[in-house]
Amino acid sequence: MRILISNDDGIDAPGIAALVDAAYPLGEVMVVAPDSAQSGAGHGITVTHPLRAKHYDFKTSNGRAVEAYSVNGRPADCVRLAVRMLIDGPVDLVLSGINKGANDGVCVFYSGTVAAAAEARLLGIPAIALSCQSEPDGVRFDRAGELAGPILAKLVDAGMEPGDFLNVNFPVLSKPEFPVGVCVARQNRAELHDYYEVLSDNGDETVYQLGRDYDTGHDGDDTDSHAMKNGFVTITPLRIDMTDHERLDRWGLMND
Ligand code: MN
Repeated sequence: MRILISNDDGIDAPGIAALVDAAYPLGEVMVVAPDSAQSGAGHGITVTHPLRAKHYDFKTSNGRAVEAYSVNGRPADCVRLAVRMLIDGPVDLVLSGINKGANDGVCVFYSGTVAAAAEARLLGIPAIALSCQSEPDGVRFDRAGELAGPILAKLVDAGMEPGDFLNVNFPVLSKPEFPVGVCVARQNRAELHDYYEVLSDNGDETVYQLGRDYDTGHDGDDTDSHAMKNGFVTITPLRIDMTDHERLDRWGLMND
């Protein structure tokens, strides 16, 4: 199995090294990832300037070396360029992460981590995005990586196929009692509770900073957000068809 790994925190982020370690036993691992942090990049792609791919000396925490390129683009650029140009032969699975910060609920719209997996889905390659909830001391990537290994092995054994586009989130891992289990759950659709800080205001110009702390809200007990807050590792199958099938009939009245 040939596995491409990307992320949105940048190729030198600790989370991607943890993911390479977790995926290493499953097959041949290659890395193509942004050369700088791209959190919140969503599914943006680079159209106004050329993309530059550079060989990168990638070593995991265990000293494992894998073929790697850094790209001066977005996560979706990395996956598309990798599959179209950088990697010879087929890619069987794309992994993205492990992101510093959860990507539950409507965060999937903003997340570059999820977008890298979505790009693979668009290219017909099975894909899994992995993210871990932040805590004040950072993210326990060592534990997230240890947990990711067996989960990835189980998903691969179950038979990942084109069309599979999974979003995995790990709960806060500094609590020894977490995770309490694995839970397949739907995406929370609640509105984000976020805020902007005013950094300066001279009367003519005001400078805002999006706050780091936000809450993904609650729209039911059967969601990824709710399960993650309660200590589960969540797995949410996502789709790229954004059609609102329930409203097709209602707006179908516009058909001539
Ligand atoms: Mn990120």
